[in-house]
Amino acid sequence: MNESFLHYIWQFQHFDKTNLATQLGEQVSIFKTGWHNTNAGPDFSGAKIRIDDLDWVGNVEIHQKASDWIAHSHTLDKAYENVILHVVWDGDKVIRRMDGSVIPTIELRGRVEVSLLKNYKKLINSATAVPCEKSFPSVGELIKLSMLEKSLLQRLEHKATDVQRLLQANGGDWQETSYQLLAKNFGFKTNSEPFFQLAKSLPYKIIAKHSSNLLQLEALLFGQAGMLETKTKDEYVTSLFQEYSFLSQKYSIHDRRLNSSQWKFLRLRPANFPTLRIAQFASLIASSKSLFSTFIETDSYQSLQTVLSISPSDYWRSHFHFARKSKTEVPLFGQTSKENIIINTIVPLLVAYGRAKDDQRYVDRAMDILQHIPAEVNKITKTWTALGMSIKSSFDSQALIEQYNNLCQKRNCLNCVVGVSILRPQ
Ligand code: SF4
Repeated sequence: MNESFLHYIWQFQHFDKTNLATQLGEQVSIFKTGWHNTNAGPDFSGAKIRIDDLDWVGNVEIHQKASDWIAHSHTLDKAYENVILHVVWDGDKVIRRMDGSVIPTIELRGRVEVSLLKNYKKLINSATAVPCEKSFPSVGELIKLSMLEKSLLQRLEHKATDVQRLLQANGGDWQETSYQLLAKNFGFKTNSEPFFQLAKSLPYKIIAKHSSNLLQLEALLFGQAGMLETKTKDEYVTSLFQEYSFLSQKYSIHDRRLNSSQWKFLRLRPANFPTLRIAQFASLIASSKSLFSTFIETDSYQSLQTVLSISPSDYWRSHFHFARKSKTEVPLFGQTSKENIIINTIVPLLVAYGRAKDDQRYVDRAMDILQHIPAEVNKITKTWTALGMSIKSSFDSQALIEQYNNLCQKRNCLNCVVGVSILRPQ
């Protein structure tokens, strides 16, 4: 027996209420269970109950044993003073408030169907990746739809929280935040950390002053990335070196530059080399006056595709790396990369901005954009497809990735609409 299960039993009232009474024999009727509180303080707020002839509105606290009240030090905590009902599995002790009055306590042991507990244990102890996989295909479509919506909102919320943290670290500067977030995503996992460090060492307010001069942008980015250490006979590299020497002195950024060893090339396809990614990043910055405004104001998926249809400077059309002319054609910024930037930079920015401005239109637009992006195909989405889920767009795949990582893998089935529907007693 764990407390999460008891919360679930209380929330959905899956227990026998015949002759329900406190430890001291007072009759109890429940009118409202209250709202589940996942933060500090009592477990449910705003519950409404009747004890004998008196009606009460307040908090409900749930424990395995009544004596957990003392073990959890609630006796000394004022936040627990207005608990109107203590719900326990085992009423092993009579508990009193600071003033000596007894806290009404009901015991659930003996009131819950044995099959419910058994089914719950079977579900969470299942060794499969999605514990409910046997029951899942027979779950109703509306419940699955509700699961998708909840999980997608949760995923967007998590990503928006990351953006808000970054925004806070940047003193509320949306431009700087958009630029750093974009840089991080341009690292495409393997180089996301050095890309992020690069953006932090070279603020957007400096970069933006040179957005109309692609050579200077490239010089600042490559130089600050620590990739222009040696002079070569390559004319282009020499020009970058000269530009960077001048600009890094002007802005006193030289000491904060990265070391070339921070960048990873090993096992990467040339199209993902950080050199080419930096050139593409520079070209995207050069193509827009303000990254943040462009991302926030571009109102459709198609228009975002156009914004991200970037082409780097001439040199990077025939090079993946410095001074090594490629024998094959250098591909343009690909469709998958564009979708990755939209999903991981632009959508979280829209949601975070919508939350900050209390404007739902930005959140709706983020969700609409996701519905236009083809679904990701990976190990997680394949698991869901095998369970009969039809995954039509990134809206679905993003939701299912969140569902899998944050609920199924953590055996958090009691907080899942599918789990609640499967466990519901007949
Ligand atoms: S969290 Fe939901 S979908 Fe995932 S295994 Fe549990 S009940 Fe099934």
